[in-house]
Amino acid sequence: MSLAICPGSFDPITLGHLNIIRRTSRIFDRVVVLAMANASKSRPMFSISERVEMIRRVTACYGNVEVSTFDGLLAEYAKQYDDAVIVKGLRASTDFENEFQMAQINKMINPALETMFLTSSEKYTFLSSSMVRELAGYGADLSEFVPREIIDEVLARAQGGKCNG
Ligand code: ADP
Repeated sequence: MSLAICPGSFDPITLGHLNIIRRTSRIFDRVVVLAMANASKSRPMFSISERVEMIRRVTACYGNVEVSTFDGLLAEYAKQYDDAVIVKGLRASTDFENEFQMAQINKMINPALETMFLTSSEKYTFLSSSMVRELAGYGADLSEFVPREIIDEVLARAQGGKCNG
């Protein structure tokens, strides 16, 4: 049974992330979307449990996708599986340097671990969680950027709500 791990901070999950998760779910038997607690920047918009809950809600329609969280090194997390593959999205050349470096380091820590990349869909190449957070701060229309199920929460949080836990 093939297993993919899609890691990220998902603060919040965007349509770009969801596009990668959906495409990965068509290729692999099982997909674990892993919200990394330590990957988020200094002041996250959403707590790790809020991020996990939002990812669960927007991926509920995919039968082979599950959501988990980890506060540690991805390469260590992957050791619990025999044949897991990390799948990440590549937006532009700017992602490449960083992703190349992370893939090499992960392989040094866990030599059995392979990393594969899916190129971002053209319409999401520019999209990042940080851009969503910034737009939300201005009350912008987010319908082209995040799943509709979470638009209201993202806008409400950006307009001054506090992160719970
Ligand atoms: P962000 O950079 O938006 O904060 P994450 O750190 O959560 O996102 O990224 C997790 C993974 O999702 C990374 O592999 C990243 O390249 C990928 N990703 C993020 N946004 C997109 C997008 N718009 N299209 C494709 N892949 C993406």
